[in-house]
Amino acid sequence: MNLGHKLFIGFGIVIALMVLILVYTYINYDNQTKAVDDNLSSTEIIQESNSILISLLNMETGARGYAISGTSEFLEPFYEGREEYLEHFSRLQELAKNKEYIEGNLKTLNKRYEKWYEWETAQIIANREKVNAGLFSMEDIVAIVNSQVGKKEMDAIRNIINNVIDAEQNTLNSRYDNLKKAERKTGYVMTFGGFLTALLSIGISLFTALTVSRPVKLLIQATENIKDQKYEEQVRLVGDKELNLLINRFNEMQAMIKYREEQLNIKNEALKAQMAEVNEATKLKSQFLANMSHELRTPLNSIIGFTNRVIKKSGESLPPTQQENLLIVREEANHLLELINNLLDYSKIEAGKMEVHPESFNLLKVIDEVYQMTKTLAEGQNLNYRQDSYTKEDIPIKSDRMKIKQILINLLSNAFKYSEKGTVALSVEKKESLYYIRVKDEGVGISEEDIGHIFDEFRQVDGSYTRKVGGTGLGLSITKKFVEMLGGKIEVCSTLGEGSCFTVILPDDIENNEIQSEMQKDENSSLTYKKKIVCVDDDPNIQRLYKQYLSEYEFETIALTGREDVMERINEICPDAILLDIMLPYKDGWEILSELKNNNHTKNIPVIMASVLSEKNLAYRMKADEYLIKPVTQEELVETIMRTIRKKQGIDVLVGDDDENFLNLMGQFLKEESMPYRLAKDGEAVIQEMLFKKPDVLILDIMMPKKDGFTVIEEIRNRESIKDTPIIVVTAKDLTNKEKEELHERTSIIIQKSAVMMDTVMETLVKRIKEKFENA
Ligand code: ADP
Repeated sequence: MNLGHKLFIGFGIVIALMVLILVYTYINYDNQTKAVDDNLSSTEIIQESNSILISLLNMETGARGYAISGTSEFLEPFYEGREEYLEHFSRLQELAKNKEYIEGNLKTLNKRYEKWYEWETAQIIANREKVNAGLFSMEDIVAIVNSQVGKKEMDAIRNIINNVIDAEQNTLNSRYDNLKKAERKTGYVMTFGGFLTALLSIGISLFTALTVSRPVKLLIQATENIKDQKYEEQVRLVGDKELNLLINRFNEMQAMIKYREEQLNIKNEALKAQMAEVNEATKLKSQFLANMSHELRTPLNSIIGFTNRVIKKSGESLPPTQQENLLIVREEANHLLELINNLLDYSKIEAGKMEVHPESFNLLKVIDEVYQMTKTLAEGQNLNYRQDSYTKEDIPIKSDRMKIKQILINLLSNAFKYSEKGTVALSVEKKESLYYIRVKDEGVGISEEDIGHIFDEFRQVDGSYTRKVGGTGLGLSITKKFVEMLGGKIEVCSTLGEGSCFTVILPDDIENNEIQSEMQKDENSSLTYKKKIVCVDDDPNIQRLYKQYLSEYEFETIALTGREDVMERINEICPDAILLDIMLPYKDGWEILSELKNNNHTKNIPVIMASVLSEKNLAYRMKADEYLIKPVTQEELVETIMRTIRKKQGIDVLVGDDDENFLNLMGQFLKEESMPYRLAKDGEAVIQEMLFKKPDVLILDIMMPKKDGFTVIEEIRNRESIKDTPIIVVTAKDLTNKEKEELHERTSIIIQKSAVMMDTVMETLVKRIKEKFENA
């Protein structure tokens, strides 16, 4: 019998016992109520009988009084007594219904009464009237009374009534005895039954406590032990089979947790040891770097100093070739010094020795100084160099002056290094409590593929230009670290062949943590890539509407009214598309469109004209990408923007595969098809790339290190920002039917890789991607 059955039977007995007691008590109560009713009727019978006795006494007394006195007043109680007698007698008859014994007595009583009444009226009252009339003497009356006829009758009547009273009194008494007995019995039953029920309930409670509560308590205690990492004590078995099963499972689980924790501890220890080694190695590396840099810097300074001296003092007297040689020595030595300085900075940052020295100063002055210092860099190159500020007044800031200088010099020297033509602009702007310092150039630019890595240490873009100009690949990573130390962040926007714009955002007070946390928030939210749409329209209501429409679709809208320098703002923002009204306050939309399309920087940004005017043909002739007639619906707007961006930018493809050959091949194919692409070597890298920027399509291998394709798909589908990315699975794995089914449910296309037909696979793939997007 299991625990449930035992408890069921126990509680069943208790309930049955309670029902029995209840039924018994109810029956007894009913009987007692009836007995009380009967008692009431008996008491009434006795009362009525006594009333009859009183009425008779009144009649008798009246008749005697009249017999003695002859005064008619004495007859009044006699006749009144008769009235009362009749009344009580009839009530008694009513009460005695169904009581045969009393009914019999009443019949006899009435007969005798009538006889007595007749005798009293005929013999006593009538003859006394005759005495009053002088026809009879008092002696005759006395003789009649002395005959005792009346008395005998009355005695008999009284006997009958007393019998009735006695009989009823007896019944009353015996009923009372019965009631007492029944009451006592009920008391016994309730006490005994209640006691039994209580005893049983205690038994069941004890049983439950012993069989259920105790083991549960033990289990709770055991979970506490697990929480405190005490695994030795196992939970003891109890009598019940089911509970034992649970306890056994629990003990197994505890053993498993213990085993896993031990394993984890071993791994943690190993990891700690490794970490210590790594830290030690890093420390040694930094120390080595610092020592080496120092050792190298000293002789280098001498080399530069002496070379400068030689060039200055006797340069002109040297033959031209020697003169050139010396200039090369100086240039190379300067380059080496820069490299060493960078290494020294880097090692200081790494070792946590780089300190921030906050002070209050005028940011505009520092920018001016940097501008003057770097002016020489532009000389000799075919470059314009410009400096702009939002104000001519002082710009107060609390930060590290030297670091800001170094940040700007790094960015500017890159701008000059990577530009052969165009303009380099250094500008500053203020938004709320943040300063936006921009270094913008029109140089070689950075490809989308490389832009994510330029801040990595020792990372240089692999290209002939970079090789030509040289460098360490440390400048930007140091710059980024400096900016972060100042509580700010750095952003970059660049187009290959068209130029770059680096923006350093700094708080006006380095000690103001609120800004830092605000920027942190910003950074987190920028994990999901939003396409930027610039909306140029002077009607604030339209702007509000555009914002509402587009914010639902992962677009970031930037509103321009047309009063500002639209071209400059667009240059800074580098939007993914522009929504342009025609009737604007300063320049009209046509003018802006023509400027956008004639500027190398902006000509590729899709422009969608939106106006109440119907000028579609003119717009297309002026190279607008799309034309919308206002009012525009949300669907129309979103659909048009998406279509134009896709048309302009091609399809952004992310390829995830651990096979480098396949990645290379895919890269070449996608390049030939002029599709922007990114490559990821394992599952984890795929997710990271996707979160950095959502691709238009993901080409995914199934067997990969770190995270396999199935896990990657699962993670993608669970993340709101990327879950709808189309996925094309390309795999060499022989998929089982179940796997195929699972993949078909969650992906768009599955293509099997085969070494022999790799080219064909690639072509099919590219074709499929194109088809898919042209149909979309
Ligand atoms: P480097 O010493 O090579 O300049 P940096 O860390 O300063 O190292 O820059 C890393 C890479 O970023 C450079 O190799 C270069 O390809 C790219 N880069 C930096 N600034 C610019 C720029 N203004 N224009 C184009 N490319 C740039």
